[in-house]
Parts: sequence; structure tokens; C-alpha cells
Amino acid sequence: MPHEFWNSAIETLGAHELERRNEALLAQQFAYVMAHSAFYQKKFANVEYISNRTELAELPFTEKDELRVSQEEFPPFGDYLTTFPEEISRVHKTSGTTGRPLYIALTRRDIETTHECGARAYFAAGLRAGDRVVHCLNYQLWAGGVTDHLSLERVGATVIPFGVGNTTALVRTIRDLQANAISATPSYLVHLADSVRDVLHLEPRELGLRKGFFGGEPGLQNPSVREKIEQTWNLRAMDANYGMADVLSIFGAECEVRDGLHFHGQGALLVELLDPATLQPIEIKTGARGELVYTNLTRQAQPLVRYRSRDAAEIVSAEPCDCGRTGFRFRVLGRSDDMVVVRGVNVFPAAIAQILAEMPQELGGEFQIVLDAPPPYNELPLRAEILLHVQEHEFAALREKIFQALQQRLNFRAAIEFVPQGTLPRTEDKTSRVIKNYI
Ligand SMILES: [Zn+2]
Repeated sequence: MPHEFWNSAIETLGAHELERRNEALLAQQFAYVMAHSAFYQKKFANVEYISNRTELAELPFTEKDELRVSQEEFPPFGDYLTTFPEEISRVHKTSGTTGRPLYIALTRRDIETTHECGARAYFAAGLRAGDRVVHCLNYQLWAGGVTDHLSLERVGATVIPFGVGNTTALVRTIRDLQANAISATPSYLVHLADSVRDVLHLEPRELGLRKGFFGGEPGLQNPSVREKIEQTWNLRAMDANYGMADVLSIFGAECEVRDGLHFHGQGALLVELLDPATLQPIEIKTGARGELVYTNLTRQAQPLVRYRSRDAAEIVSAEPCDCGRTGFRFRVLGRSDDMVVVRGVNVFPAAIAQILAEMPQELGGEFQIVLDAPPPYNELPLRAEILLHVQEHEFAALREKIFQALQQRLNFRAAIEFVPQGTLPRTEDKTSRVIKNYI
């Protein structure tokens, strides 16, 4: 495989050298934060300086709720704003799916860093100069709109700023401008396929889109969703846009190997992995699972230190990839709040979902974990949908097969109950699969 990079100097940097640079940036950034951020001057009152990861791990976390309070008390940007308001070049807003949204302020330099990391991500996922990409994410305040648009442009592609809505005009635009690539959420393409047939009387694969850059929801982690998109459209569907506007718009994207999202925020973001149950750091090594915690290394306007993302992830590999990149690869496991501890083992519903998705002949894929009592748990009650054609005499063998798979791969015991297909509520990406029937 030919090795191509957006920024080979940083994308192929060895782990040791990267850590050395990160720690130098961390010391410098921490001094900046303590000199300019009223929020952190209060929070870290007795800390003079830090210069490495170990010292960082002694500091308290920053929670999203603290930022909300800060923005309410010191509107609109909060007292963690460390620049003069006139230095802010761009403002975004978070989606607010988990509470009051935050206003995100970016300086020129913050924007530059954002597009550099975004370009690494899109390039790794296969975007090249000469591609003509229609960008179909929301431009209304959301970072996915204009900011991701400009990251696509940074790679050298021709970008068509479409946004969301009016799919009739969208499919005509794709045809008229002969776009060969699309940037969207995976679920948007399912919807779009109908418009292509209705408006243009074409099959989606005849429209000429050959590259898909997806993000904003976890759909592509389900192999059948990816396969369906690729077959319907005859395009290569890449998970290319993982990030968090609060810290960095895009820093996760697959490479051609497609074995997890590469971390592309080198030099901009320091990542820690946290055990959500004990709040202790976990080493970032292959197979580790925990919540992602971020510290900005260069952010000027609203720098964050030890910011809890509430996103849980598995480190797919901390070793260099076949593509030549050294950035660790990870897979998002959903909300860390959904984690359940079973006999000391951290279990994430998304990891269960992946195993159940491997049995499409028998299972519908939907499931629930119903907890009737508070922890501790010796085994996890799992309610899974079974397809209607499976006969009752086959249940015991299937239950054993699932039990073994969960025990061997996720290291916990499940008490499995089957319910007919269509019984459980459909889960959208943000909906919890863990039901707690206790106070
Ligand atoms: Zn790779």
C-alpha cells in the first residue's frame, strides 16, 4: 500500500517523541491557562505549574456542567474565555443533546489548528485535491457546517456547501455539478436514496458518488449499515468525522485499512483514558477501554484541561498502522454513563451490540439491559430481540452461544432473555440501552 499523509512529520511520529512534544506543549499551555483563565485560576488555586502527564492526572476534571454554569454567569462565553472578545474570529454552538448548549469561541489560531487536524482526518479517509464533495451537514451554528467545510477545502477538494434539507435540490445539484464525493451523516444517505429515485429516476449508484465521508452519528460502526450504503451507492463509505466542538471539531477518522478511527489531534489535544467507575487513569494501550478525557495543548480562546467527554472508547490499537500512521486507533463505545460494572469488569452496551450484530441470522440486534437493583452485579440481565423464524427448541443453544461469546470476549456473565423481534423500542444513537428500575 502506498503511504500517503497530509502531514507526514506529525502523523508518523514515534510515540515517545510525540509524548515529549505533548509534555512541552502542556507545560506552556498550563502556564497560559493559569495566567488568563479566571475559571481555572479558581479551580486550580494551589497549582503553580505542571509539566507532564502524571502531574496532569492529579488535577480535578472539568465537567460540561461547570462550563454551562460559567456561561450562564459570565455570558456569552464563560469565564474560561482567555482572550479579548475582539480576538474571537468564529462562534459555534454545541448541539445540546445532553443539556444546555455551549457557545464555542475560536481565535484565528484555534481555527488554523482545527483545519489542520480536520485535513489530516479527511485525507486519511481518502479525500484528495480534485475531488468534488457536497457537504451536507448543518451550517446553522454547528461546527459540522462551515468549520468542517473549510477542513474539506484545506485538503484541496472542491466543496459544495449544501447543508441539510431540500433533498430534491440536493440530488439535482450532485448531478449538475458531477460531485464524486459526499460528506454527511450515514442516516442521511438512506433518506437521500429515495430522493434520487423519485426526482431523477435513477438508482443511487448511477449518480456517480464514489467517496462518502461520514460522521455525526455512530452508524458506520455497524457493518451491515456500511455495507448497505456501499452497495446502494457504489461508493466507499468512510468513518471520517469524529470530534467534539468543545475541544476540536474533528480528530478521529479511519484510514484505508478501516480498523478503527485514527487519532489525528497530535500536537493539539492530549488524550487520557479514564475508568469511569474508579476515576483512575488507564494506560492507552491496545484493548484498553475507558472514557476519553481531553486537554487542549494550544487552544487560545476557551482552553480546557482534563475535560470529561462522557464518550467511552476502546483502543483498537496503540501500535503503528499498516498505513504508516502512528496515531492510536479507537472505536467509540457510546456514553460512558451507560457503563455497567459486572464483577469488577467494565461493560459497555456498544461492545455488546457489536457481538449481537454478528448473529444476524438469529437476532434483530436490539437489546436492553434492565437493572432492577443497584450495583454490585454478578451477572447482567440482557433482553435481546430474536427473529420470528427462530424456533423455541433452538433457544437454549442460541442462549449458550451468546453467553459464551460475551463471557469470552467481554469477560462477563449474562442472564439472557429473548423477546420477539419488534418488541423493544428502536434506539437512536443517543438513547440509552440501560434501563435502571431503581432509585
Ligand atoms: Zn491506518
